[in-house]
This record gives sequence, structure tokens and C-alpha cells, in this order.
Amino acid sequence: MLTSNNQESRYARSLIEASLDPLITISIAGKITDMNQALANITGMTREQLTGTDFFDYFTEPLDAKKVYEEVFAKGFVVDYPLTIKDHKLTDVLFNGSVYKDEKGNVLGAVVVARDITDQKRIETEMLEAKVFAEIATQIAEDAKNKADLARGVAENAVKSKQQFLSNMSHEIRTPMNAIIGFTKVLLKTNLTDKQQEYLSAIKTSGDALIVLINDILDLAKVDAGKMTFEKTPFKLASSISAMLHLFETKINEKNLELVRYYDTSIPDVLVGDSVRLHQIIMNLVSNAVKFTSEGSITVSVKKVNEDEKKVGILFSVTDTGIGIDESRKDSIFENFQQATSGTSRIYGGTGLGLAIVKQLVEPQGGIISVTSKVGIGSTFSFLLSFDKTDAKVQPETDWQDEDIEVNPLKVLVVEDMPLNQLLMKTVLDDFGFERDVAANGKIAIELLETKMYDIVLMDLQMPVMNGFEATAYIRNTLNSSIPIIALTADVTTVDISKCKAVGMNDYLAKPIDEKLLYKKIVSLVKKVKNNVTASAVTRAGKYVNLEYLAKRTKSNPEMMMEMIAVYLEQTPPLITIMKQSLVDKDWLALHAAVHKIIPSFSIMGIGEDSENIAKKVQEYAKTQQETEVMSKLIAQLELICVQACKELEEEYNTIKQSKK
Ligand code: ADP
Repeated sequence: MLTSNNQESRYARSLIEASLDPLITISIAGKITDMNQALANITGMTREQLTGTDFFDYFTEPLDAKKVYEEVFAKGFVVDYPLTIKDHKLTDVLFNGSVYKDEKGNVLGAVVVARDITDQKRIETEMLEAKVFAEIATQIAEDAKNKADLARGVAENAVKSKQQFLSNMSHEIRTPMNAIIGFTKVLLKTNLTDKQQEYLSAIKTSGDALIVLINDILDLAKVDAGKMTFEKTPFKLASSISAMLHLFETKINEKNLELVRYYDTSIPDVLVGDSVRLHQIIMNLVSNAVKFTSEGSITVSVKKVNEDEKKVGILFSVTDTGIGIDESRKDSIFENFQQATSGTSRIYGGTGLGLAIVKQLVEPQGGIISVTSKVGIGSTFSFLLSFDKTDAKVQPETDWQDEDIEVNPLKVLVVEDMPLNQLLMKTVLDDFGFERDVAANGKIAIELLETKMYDIVLMDLQMPVMNGFEATAYIRNTLNSSIPIIALTADVTTVDISKCKAVGMNDYLAKPIDEKLLYKKIVSLVKKVKNNVTASAVTRAGKYVNLEYLAKRTKSNPEMMMEMIAVYLEQTPPLITIMKQSLVDKDWLALHAAVHKIIPSFSIMGIGEDSENIAKKVQEYAKTQQETEVMSKLIAQLELICVQACKELEEEYNTIKQSKK
């Protein structure tokens, strides 16, 4: 028994000693009664020294330790109570304890284990520190990101302001420049001495160069802003290239150079792409080739490199026998403001922008541009572009000299706010022998169109009160007129050509106006409309009526034709009076009925579809009794058409009568 007791107690002792955490027994009075070696180690005291001393004295917070001791005896146990042992390194512990009793259940004391949580605490502290550190790092990163966002915002604003500034300034510079160039051209046509001619030509050349530069800068601003857009319209590549090379002929001849052309005839006639930009690219390359070559030849070659059902890949090359480019400069010449040598600008002029723009025009279209060159031998600039194929036909282009217009003089309405430009346009149109009126903004233009007849409108885009886009939309949608409209823009590089088209403009022309081009465009547009029998009455170059239909129906019987005309002349004026009166009286039924009677006579007298559409619109509004203001304008237009038609028919009547005699 004794043996077994001894064994048990040794076993218990070994268990107690095996614990690395301090293990203590305390009496009800709070005195240490027993302990393991771990406590001795931690406190640095011997077991003898420890035995019988106050348990709470070994902690940094004796009052807290006392609470633990009280809790153990009050509740019978305590779990994970944090304390710090007052050893040389202040060991943090978690206190767990429970009372022990004799056989009768009387509490004899308590056994407590102080679990050393130094490592746990250290890890916790480290984790906390790491967390704090991570939070700080996140904060720093966020601050940095905010700062970067702010900086990017500032930079973007700066870029925007730069673009805005460039755009505004270019516009501001261009307007007076257009006037300078325009009037120089006008002056050049007057009687001048040779010297004056020479000086004026120099002014014009400089002006032209300045406009090119401004356009280049605007183009770059557009590229920067990611606003460079490319058209996809059908065009004839061969004629487009030959027309462009035509522009260089004089210069090439002057320099005694030879122009060699190679055009691969297996390229489909019509391609879909941006012919304006293609022009710009080739013009830049050919103009450089001419500029940097003093003898030899310039070869422009256009070759097909691949073709499938939908696309054709074409390689364009411009080869010269000029000064060449040093190997080390071959890449940088495609950068903004870069020239191959520091003396280039002094000797040859230029700004180093052309190739940068060319690159920006080729690459965004999925193309590739490259150069091979040898100093003193020459250079070849090549670019590869892919075009869509199409079955669409392209409107045939005619030479401007061939253009002639039978009905002269044409009546042109110029819509332009700048007095200088107004004067310039007047001079140019007078030169053409055209009649012209000038409206200072879109609103005035509309008022004029409502009361007078014109063959064509030349429309500036930026104007006060009502701009060119708004005016065109009104002319097309409210006046229902298909009169040809040519946009005149100072800003051809930034102008939204598709916007011009979308509002219904027929064409556009860049300022400074190329007179030949203006003449050509005016004449061909008016002619096109004139040839179109169903086109608008207003646009039929001076004529509202067309007796083709009547002649066909009556088999050109003069009697019958005269009778029909007489009926029209008799019935129309009273119908107009009723129409106007019923609008004043708001008698919509009467108005509807009057217009209803007018409509069939339009097609008989060959009065265009547009007039019929106006009449139909009036009928529609009369039915719904809406838009009275618009309606009154439409009625005024109908009156104008009918009065004019009556005048013409009277003349026709008399002519037929005369021819009968
Ligand atoms: P610019 O002609 O206005 O100087 P570009 O961007 O068109 O600007 O050309 C950049 C430079 O590349 C030119 O200044 C010139 O040094 C070189 N370069 C371009 N084309 C040729 C060429 N055909 N032959 C020789 N050098 C050329």
C-alpha cells in the first residue's frame, strides 16, 4: 500500500514536473504549498524559498492575482486568466486552476497552471504589427494611387486644355490666314507688275505652308485625343492616285525629275476605305521625296500583295533617288518634330511632323509603314494597307474644265458670319459669274430660302445664332428642301465629315477655298440635281416646272398642252388664296381640301417631288392641327413654288402658242 502510495505520488510528481508551464498548489490562505521546477526556473528562486510565500506576490498585478485566487475558491475553477509573472523578463501567462478536496469534499487548496504564452503573445504582437504595417502599406498605396489619379486627372486636363488650345488657336489663326490667302489669290488675278506678282506669290506660298502646318498640328492634337477617325467609303484607287500625282507634276518638272508610276491592274477598281487619309499619306511621302531629291526619279508604286473574298492588301511605295537617311535616324524620323539631320530644317524647311502624322494615319488602320534608305543613293517609304472590297459604284468624277452649266447665272446663297470671308466669297462667286446673296447665320439663311429661290447653299459651320448643322437640319427636315448644300469649313482635319453627311449636306470644302474645286463642286452638284427629273423643284437650276410628263401624256399635242396649262393657271391662284385664308381662320378642313386639290397638278406639271412632300406635310399638320408655325412657313413655301410655277407655265404657254404659228 505504502509502496503503491509512493509510486502514485512519484507518478504524480513526475507529471507535475513534466509540465514546462509553472504548476503551483496554493492553500486556502493563498500561500504556496508546492510547485514544479518550471516555477522555480521562471522566478529564479528555489523551491524552499518559494514554499510558504504569498502566491500573489509573484505577479505584476497582485490584486488581479488575488482575484484569481478568490475566484478559484469561490467557483472551484478558473480558466485562461491573463497575468504576468514578476520574473526578470515578465512572463505573460494564462491562468487555469481548480480546487482540490479531501475525501469528504472539503477544499484543501487549489492547483493552478500558469501557461507561458510569451511565444503566443509574440506571434500575436507580430501579427498585429504585421497587420498594422499592412494597413499602413495599404494606406500609403491608396494615397499614392489617389495622388496618381489626381496627377492623371491634372495631366488629362492639361492634355485636354492643350488640345482645346491648339484647336482654338488653329481656328483663330486659320480664319485670318484664309482671308490672307483668299485675297492674295484675288489680287494675283488682277493686273500686276512682275515684281508684285512675285511678292504676292511668295505671300501665297508662305500662307499655304502655314495652313499645312496648322492642319498638321491639329491632326496631331486629334491623334493625342484618340479622335482620329477613318471613313469607310467606296472610292476608285487608280483615279484617286493619278489625280493626286497630277498635283506634283509641275513641281517634279521644275526640278527636272522623272515621275515613274507603277499600278497593279489586278487591284479591284473600287475599294472601301478612307481615300482622304490615303491621299494625305501619299501626299506627305511624295512631297518629301520631291523635296529631298535634286536629280533622278520618284517612283510611286501600288501593288496588290494579297486578296480574298472580302479584302485586298495593297503595298504602296514611294522611292526616290535623293539624299537618303542615315541608318541611325531611320526610326526617329517617324517621331514628332524629328528630322534626320540638324540642318534639314535650314536647308529644306519643314517641321518634322509629316512622317509622324503618316505613321498615325497608317497604323491605326491596321497598316504597317517602313523605310529603307542609303545616304546619297535614295529612300523608299512603303506602307501596307488593307481595303474592303465592294460591288458599289463610285459617282463618276469629271474634270472641272469640262463642267458647264446651261442655266446661268446660278443663284448661290452664302451662309457665313465673318465679314472678311463674306467679301472673299462674294469676289469669288462674282468671278464665276454667279448671282449670290449672303446670310450672316443659319437663321437668316432659312428666312431667305423661304422667300427666294436658290440653286445651291454654301454653308459655314461655326456661326452665331444658328450654326451650319442646325440650319441644314432645318432645311432638310422642316423646309423639306433637297437644295444642294456644301459645307465650308476652316477645320477640315477636325470637322466631323460624317456629321455633315448626317445632317444632309451634300459635300464639304476646306478653307482656304480652292476656287477650281468650289466651281467644280457647285456646278456638278447643281447639274446632278438638274439631271435628276424627280429632284426638288427648288433645286432644278432655276426651273420649277418640267413639261416632259405633260408632253408625253399629250403626245406633244400643243392644243392639249396649252389647255392643261390654262386649267392649272386658272385653278391654282384661288387655291393658294383659300389655303392662306384657311390658315388664318384655322379652318383645317378647308386647308386640307385646298392642298388636296393642288397636289395632283404637281406631277402633271413636273413640279418636283419635294414640293409634293411639302404639300403632304401641310395636309398632315392640318389633320392633326399641330405645328401651326411650321405650317405657315410651309404654306409660304408652297405659295412661292406655285407662283413661280405659274410664271414659268405662262411663259411655256406663250412659247407653245408662238411655235404653233
Ligand atoms: P519634314 O519633312 O517636315 O521635315 P517629315 O516628318 O516629313 O518632316 O520628315 C522627317 C525627316 O525625315 C525629314 O526632315 C528628313 O530629314 C527625313 N526624310 C523624310 N523623307 C525623306 C526622304 N524622302 N529622303 C530623305 N530624307 C527624308
